[in-house]
Amino acid sequence: MFVGHYSVAFAAKSERNEIPLWVLFVAVQLLDFLWAPFVLLGIEKVRIVPGITATSPLDLYYMPYTHSLVGALVWSMLAALVYKLVRGARASSSAALIVALAVFSHWILDLIVHRPDLAIYDNTLKVGFGLWNYRGVEFAVEIALLVIGIVVYLKRNIIKSAGRKIGIVVFGVFLILVQTQTTFGGRPLSSDRVVAITALTFYTLFAGVAFFLGKTPRRES
Ligand SMILES: [Zn+2]
Repeated sequence: MFVGHYSVAFAAKSERNEIPLWVLFVAVQLLDFLWAPFVLLGIEKVRIVPGITATSPLDLYYMPYTHSLVGALVWSMLAALVYKLVRGARASSSAALIVALAVFSHWILDLIVHRPDLAIYDNTLKVGFGLWNYRGVEFAVEIALLVIGIVVYLKRNIIKSAGRKIGIVVFGVFLILVQTQTTFGGRPLSSDRVVAITALTFYTLFAGVAFFLGKTPRRES
């Protein structure tokens, strides 16, 4: 799962919980944000095996810390704790819980698309429903999720500025294009390091865009 993860970030954002959109963008990809440096440091492992699934050539054979069920639960709780500490009085308990759920949503959505490479704990009992083996269906699910997320976001958050609204829609289209290229364009993934750096670059870029689009302006036109 790639851009589909952001459906949760968009849908979870509301004026009441006051969680910055960029924080949710980081939360829903936190497991991958950690995975990429772990791969670069050799702590977790991935190799490129063309054809291992119809969509993704990644053989994610060792990622017990970021993508096991137990690992995902631990990171979710830690993220809620950090959010509460950093935001202080501005973080309600329900907002911290939403951050935890956003982090954990990554594992659930990965579970749907991954081949059985997600461990329950450590590196054993691996699960994954393998939707990546159905390229068209997987693509449709990613896009449908994203569109639903953006629609919910636009309904839950009163955005007075037309420019900002257009910005959100343009960002949505951009995410769809990136997903299209990832799913259907031959990807130039040559090594585990390239995969990790590419992922990190895109996730950081998207979180940066979310920072600007989600800013609460003092006065909106
Ligand atoms: Zn992941």
